[in-house]
Amino acid sequence: MYDILITGGTVVDGTGAPAYRADVAVRGDRIVAVGTLDGATASTVIDATGKIVTPGFIDMHTHSDLTVRADARGWSKLRQGVTTDVVGNCGMTPYPVAHDPARAQVLRESLFAIAGDVPWGWDSLHGYRETLNSQGIGINLAPLVGHSAIRGAVLGFDDRPATTEEQDEMGRVLARALDEGAFGLSTGLTLPPSAYGDTDEVVNLCRTLGRYRGRLYCSHTRGDTAAGPTGMREAFEIGQRAGVPVHLAHMAVNDPRRWGSAGEVMDELDAVAISGLDVTGDVYPYAASSSGFSQCLPWWAQSGGRLETVARLRDPATRARIREDMEADGLLAGWPWHWDRLLICRVENPEWAHAEGMNFVELAATRGVAPIDAALDLMRDDEGRMQVIFFYRTEEDMQVFLRHPRIMVGSDGSALTVGGPTGVGRPHPRNYGATARVLGRYVRELGVLTLEDAVHRMSGKVATRLGLQDRGWIRTGLAADLAVVDPGTVTDHATFTDPHQYASGVDTVIVNGGVAMTAGEPTGIHRGRVLAA
Ligand SMILES: [Zn+2]
Repeated sequence: MYDILITGGTVVDGTGAPAYRADVAVRGDRIVAVGTLDGATASTVIDATGKIVTPGFIDMHTHSDLTVRADARGWSKLRQGVTTDVVGNCGMTPYPVAHDPARAQVLRESLFAIAGDVPWGWDSLHGYRETLNSQGIGINLAPLVGHSAIRGAVLGFDDRPATTEEQDEMGRVLARALDEGAFGLSTGLTLPPSAYGDTDEVVNLCRTLGRYRGRLYCSHTRGDTAAGPTGMREAFEIGQRAGVPVHLAHMAVNDPRRWGSAGEVMDELDAVAISGLDVTGDVYPYAASSSGFSQCLPWWAQSGGRLETVARLRDPATRARIREDMEADGLLAGWPWHWDRLLICRVENPEWAHAEGMNFVELAATRGVAPIDAALDLMRDDEGRMQVIFFYRTEEDMQVFLRHPRIMVGSDGSALTVGGPTGVGRPHPRNYGATARVLGRYVRELGVLTLEDAVHRMSGKVATRLGLQDRGWIRTGLAADLAVVDPGTVTDHATFTDPHQYASGVDTVIVNGGVAMTAGEPTGIHRGRVLAA
């Protein structure tokens, strides 16, 4: 007698090996049998005839750190068969928290975009894990620890180099998070305060990381410039000097002058891998990215955190300097401004709600000002919280990354739930669709990946990279994180104009042995846990 028996399905086991016919049995929170289980009985029997049975998907790159605190359900992920989100990416984590209340508040402000207003109360990864585990969460989380949080805790959000003493202290703070089970260190080198750290500072931190075998350096890099993928090259240098494995977040070619060069980027990556660096990356299946508009402001203007940024925007002389630098420096790593490629996707100030869904050329036309002024007005009035979508990528480059053997899938999205506190604004459709889109569009419709390969890049390959020992594959003895998916119908529905649309075609999802979704509908149980390395 089993607790759960999935019968009649085709197992795609997460290793990349060919699919095969098998039943899967679960007892407690473990997979206990895989094979022909004729005559077996179970309290819950799930008929998977005509469908595939896969490991629950592991999303390599997310920002669900606090969305599951705000709304534990995380249905945008469950509806895609995702059972584990890697959190703590891009340098941003809600831990460690400084003891100094003002500094702690700056960290909270900085994470508003990925959290909204949710109660905290912890000061460490350990405390975060205890809080979320006792609250209950719909999916598992595999946490990294972020450079911005570490730097913010030790020296605040100021735009200055860290002293030797501060770097040593950052190393100790990092070590504590690694002791508490962080799977690696993330940077967000275009996002202050991580961006204020130079190469040597990150190398020093990664030397501490290197004492923990297999823990990853996950780099949101400084980006590509006119000179090529310079941000990626810095990540390689950091990995080589510190002797740590490097994982490149959300790979892309963003500079329009370099569109079409993804093949050359991957040739460089292959060459470094052949020379001995342990390197991988992730990508999400869209030709647009999304983040706070604050990334578009000069770094000096963001020193001290969000409220200081807003104060600068309110001061006419300082605002004029910000505007001047933005025009002179270009977007992020010096990309040309195309204001019609920047879509406003979330504002908090109700007086500007009408701007959601417009690009800055459209918004500027309604106000009779230049796009850059419309952007700075909105940023000021929205107190620095505005989120935007950047249409600065191409489908062709994205497919080159997606096909490459060192790449896995990471949505860069969060676990959201329609109708709850996280189902707001017009977020990037990746939150609701990335995983389903890989299976629907890139496996079934376009044949870019085989089904087995795609599942591998969203389960076993990710588990291997994280050093997860007990999930990511369908195998006796492993955690019962499973999905039953109809490969003939699985489809993403979220769009840039109508993003709060769940994916379809995922029938059943099991998280740690609990049936979190059945017959295409979530059950409301919360069996997820914050995992530890
Ligand atoms: Zn990032």
